[in-house]
Amino acid sequence: MLKDRHLVPVRPELFAERSCPKCGAGSPTPVGVVFPGVHVLGSYQCASCSYRFLHDLPVGFAVDHDVAIGIDDGEMHDAHGAEPWVTAPLMTGFRSPSDEEVVIERRVLRPGKRVVVLNTLDFLYGHVLLKLWNAQHYLEAHPELGLVVIIPKSFEWMVPRGTAEVWAVDQRLGKAHGWYRSIDRQVNAFLTDYDEVYLGKGYAHPDKSKVDIERYTGVQAFQLEHYATAPRHITFVLREDRLWYRTPLHKLLDRVAGKVGLKNVFRGFLLADQQRLAMSALQKVRTSCPGVEATVVGLGDARPLPHGVVDLRTRKMTVETELAWCAAYAKSQFVVGVHGSNMLLPTAFAAGCIEILPHDRYRNLAQDVTTRWTDVMQVFLYRFVDEFASPSAVARHAVSMFNDYAVFYRNNRINIY
Ligand SMILES: [Zn+2]
Repeated sequence: MLKDRHLVPVRPELFAERSCPKCGAGSPTPVGVVFPGVHVLGSYQCASCSYRFLHDLPVGFAVDHDVAIGIDDGEMHDAHGAEPWVTAPLMTGFRSPSDEEVVIERRVLRPGKRVVVLNTLDFLYGHVLLKLWNAQHYLEAHPELGLVVIIPKSFEWMVPRGTAEVWAVDQRLGKAHGWYRSIDRQVNAFLTDYDEVYLGKGYAHPDKSKVDIERYTGVQAFQLEHYATAPRHITFVLREDRLWYRTPLHKLLDRVAGKVGLKNVFRGFLLADQQRLAMSALQKVRTSCPGVEATVVGLGDARPLPHGVVDLRTRKMTVETELAWCAAYAKSQFVVGVHGSNMLLPTAFAAGCIEILPHDRYRNLAQDVTTRWTDVMQVFLYRFVDEFASPSAVARHAVSMFNDYAVFYRNNRINIY
């Protein structure tokens, strides 16, 4: 089998660089692989004390935070500093596995006997996308291996060109952290078709500058060469569950209202205010840069908007809506929105962004941005503002990003060695 630190062997030889969590003896006997959903675990038996255990294979969030579970005593071992959001659903699932029948639709596009399986299942939207961005590495680095993508069905439209097989799991993301015997059974049955199987790593933070978004979606990203000449366009990403607040008091009001059961009363007001902030910023941009057009996207209801602003908000996502949003991002010099996984896809297409970054998200800086540039253009094109940034503050950045671009680009992309 291939030796590569980005490939985890599964078949015919299962990864066994583990030691017994009970007695510490190395080289346990591999028994098989378990695919209950988000996690992929090896099943082992200790050659010394016969303890039977499962151990996360080093993929997805288990690359650093792998957990071992005793099969007979149900004990969790060696959590390696894994945070409860990783271990709690895993242990809950292990202790009460589900017999719900989860449908997996298998599409074979390029049959083969040697494959790398990338498991993108997760209960969080952004995690699925980030795992999916790993696909390209395997397509490019290992053309001799067919790429099999295990993917939530709602993401199937983003399977990249060149993928050998798609195993689309028909399940809501919110249910993904369970332990599903039916997923395990079906995946293990599929695996018997191959002579050689590896797992792709599914790193949580792949190098996003290498993402070829057109390969995933068929929609070409905004090209920097056209930045100064293309019609000026901004896309506002306005989600309803994480807001741009005018002041700390607005945020506090939202929190308190949620706690005392009056969430809906104030939400309407806060959503309208979020739109007022965004459109006020746009109006200020237009004062300096006449003719700027805009699109508003987000999971939510359409609201009346100023002239020259297209409303693509909806509560019902379809592939057509996804592609319409992608097309809006792709004609935007930059997108404006609050930090969160909702920024991953917009920034994969737009040239840049202005992101409203909440104070408690500093440690997640840029995790949600598909940073396309690795040179100093990155500093120019990705702007982060305070969580209570005023429309003027956002507009100042936006005006600069339009009006100062040509000189910045010439200085840093043309007049250099
Ligand atoms: Zn042992």
